[in-house]
Amino acid sequence: MNTSILLFFTSLLFTLNVQAARLAIVIDDVGYRVNAENKIFQMSVAVSIAILPNSPYGRKMAEKAYQQGREILIHLPMAPLSKQPLEKYTLHPAMNREEIARIIQDAIQKVPHAVGMNNHMGSAMTSNFSGMEKVIQELSHRRLYFLDSVTIGNTQVTKAAIGTSVPVLRRNIFLDNTQTEAETRHQLNRAIALARKQGSAIAIGHPHPTTMRALQQTLATLPSDIELVTPSMLLSSAPTTKNDNQIVRNCIKPRESKPAPATSSDYLKMLGKALSNNVIVNSLNRHMQKLLGHYRAQETPNDSGKPEVRQTTENKMAGKTKPQQKDDQTGAQKTKDACANF
Ligand SMILES: [Zn+2]
Repeated sequence: MNTSILLFFTSLLFTLNVQAARLAIVIDDVGYRVNAENKIFQMSVAVSIAILPNSPYGRKMAEKAYQQGREILIHLPMAPLSKQPLEKYTLHPAMNREEIARIIQDAIQKVPHAVGMNNHMGSAMTSNFSGMEKVIQELSHRRLYFLDSVTIGNTQVTKAAIGTSVPVLRRNIFLDNTQTEAETRHQLNRAIALARKQGSAIAIGHPHPTTMRALQQTLATLPSDIELVTPSMLLSSAPTTKNDNQIVRNCIKPRESKPAPATSSDYLKMLGKALSNNVIVNSLNRHMQKLLGHYRAQETPNDSGKPEVRQTTENKMAGKTKPQQKDDQTGAQKTKDACANF
């Protein structure tokens, strides 16, 4: 075959890092500052929001986000270790099962369309195993995932979810512990680097003006190998079992390992399939299909002595090349479909 074509696509494959790294961004504490929070609604719909259930505008924000197809989490207040002003109905480790269930049910009513929950504060609550067991048990009846904001190193969330049907995700990066645009941009770059390294990353920010500006800038120039996703898109349908790490791994869709191509034609097919997942090279894929057709026309029968069934192969490839979806087409329905086993 034409060696230069093979070299061209090989270099393209490595240069473009064809498997997109997935980054989820969640904005917490939504429901109090309408003007600042309205900036979120101008951003990519893949940016998710976590709404405080007893905030004055929480329901309104949930309805607005739902209209856009934006993913919604309940930002459930949980007791911190330090003394500070608390939200109404903050979960405390000393609460009994019924109280916790009632507060969660109330929050679900006040934040319609939520598909997940994460903790507001919560260093005392999330580090208490029996407290979090009660929370997780209630969530298991509600088909909500839990995103651990990780406000304390000793969090018991993952452990409390062992053996339950509740999927758990963990926050990797806080975007605005220091409220400056430069710091938030720096943290966004850290999140991007982590997503490339691990395959995915979750960053949490707040509706501070500095965070909104840094996000607007960074999202406008997001590298092509970074796919902005909702937290639920990082979940697989695998049940939570075994140890802490296993649970987190279960929640993250594994990368497929590709078998080595047997022939140069297989190699081009493999490249075409991989490249079809990349935003930039979708259009190039069409040219590859033409090249493949040209190459097959020159190809001799395969090892079995039978000629390739061209139509079948091409149909297969066409079926696997999904049309590219724009950000504003990724809605709640889509993420529910992708994660039907919450
Ligand atoms: Zn919060």
